Amino acid sequence: MSIFVKNNPSKVMQRSSAGNFLRLALTWLTSLSRLQRVALAAVIIFTPFFILLSHGGDASNAYVSTPHEEWLAADIQQPSIATSSKHVVIKSGDHAISVLQKLGFNLKTARLMVSTATKRYNLKDIRAGKQFKRIDSATGTDVYYNVNSEQRLHLQKRRNEHQWSCTMDQRLLLTHQRVASGIIHNSLFAAAEGVGLDQRTTMNLVDLFSWDIDFARNMRRGDSFNVLYEEHIDDHGNLLNSTILAAEFVNRGEHYKAVRYEQLDGSSSYYTPKGKSIRKAYLKAPVKFSRISSRFTTRRLHPVLGYTRAHRGVDYAASSGTPIHALGDGVIRFAGWKHGYGRFILIKHNNRNHSTAYAHMRAFARGIKRGVRVKQGQVIGYVGMSGLATGPHLHFEFRVRGVAVNPLTVKHPPARPIIASQRDRFMQQTAPLLGQLQQKNILETWG
Ligand SMILES: [Zn+2]
Repeated sequence: MSIFVKNNPSKVMQRSSAGNFLRLALTWLTSLSRLQRVALAAVIIFTPFFILLSHGGDASNAYVSTPHEEWLAADIQQPSIATSSKHVVIKSGDHAISVLQKLGFNLKTARLMVSTATKRYNLKDIRAGKQFKRIDSATGTDVYYNVNSEQRLHLQKRRNEHQWSCTMDQRLLLTHQRVASGIIHNSLFAAAEGVGLDQRTTMNLVDLFSWDIDFARNMRRGDSFNVLYEEHIDDHGNLLNSTILAAEFVNRGEHYKAVRYEQLDGSSSYYTPKGKSIRKAYLKAPVKFSRISSRFTTRRLHPVLGYTRAHRGVDYAASSGTPIHALGDGVIRFAGWKHGYGRFILIKHNNRNHSTAYAHMRAFARGIKRGVRVKQGQVIGYVGMSGLATGPHLHFEFRVRGVAVNPLTVKHPPARPIIASQRDRFMQQTAPLLGQLQQKNILETWG
């Protein structure tokens, strides 16, 4: 497998007032492997505990936090070295007062803290599974609660003060650009996983090319992908989401490319490098690529029939219950039982010459009946083996003037191009992204 992954230097989007040191430290931390980070967390968390033990710390202090990389950022933000640190995971039925008591505060203090926090955040809204973190240091006591991926509630009492104060701190968001390339040997998922692509980004990649490539039927050994994407990571190292900036997919020797373009109004969509929208009137397939359908080996178990004169349709081998998507916008003309077709749906599309038919369903999706409008990609039913079917599969037909034709031969209307006035802007914005995507080709010839 020829695989190449490149980590571009991390770009850190600074949103807090912390200085360069913090930025450097965070960049360094995100560059560490998971194991290294856990080890570092263990050192940070356990050291004060061992100091306490060796000094005969009292029983209430002998609460050991399990090492968890999640809390690294909070530790870094500490102005001075922590002398003790612990956290409590909120359980269902817990409330802020009881959690603060578990952190070692007495009832009176806990109540005071909750009322101090109210100006910034109502601690009645805390959720099970989240955590409260307490850090004691030479300068005082700090308590943290992550409200969401962007904000952290911070209660603090300095050593020489009697009052608690509360701020809502901005959490750091890290943006990290990566290029991942892989050649598909067994399945797209395996290849994607092998180069460190998370599942969401893999599915986004599939969605991006779902107007051009029939991932459920037409992938071949040797197909390849190349994707430039941006990861958004919170200050605990959790992946929040990712955005594909540019991508290329080679399917049976055909090259497909897409690049992200941000319009003047801030909305974004994907285009070919020449500025044509990648969206089309019809998806390439009514069944989405999935972890199971992506394996070439399933073909041996369920013969997949292509369009022939004898078989006027295309079969998609898929496990029972797999969602079936409307190929394009249209109106349901039939949804019911139809002889050998079993549970059957016919959609009449906006181009009135075109209709699509879906057979052997296990069930229809909620609300699907004659006369209902459906959108492209909408789930209309689920794969089954109703009617004359030997195993679960979707029998699909693309009909032109009522006659089933080979979907591959249907001419699609040309995609809408970028408007002329935005053409220069489009080129300026997308050329660097496509350039970055191409960089790996130079290196790949070496590998
Ligand atoms: Zn069939």
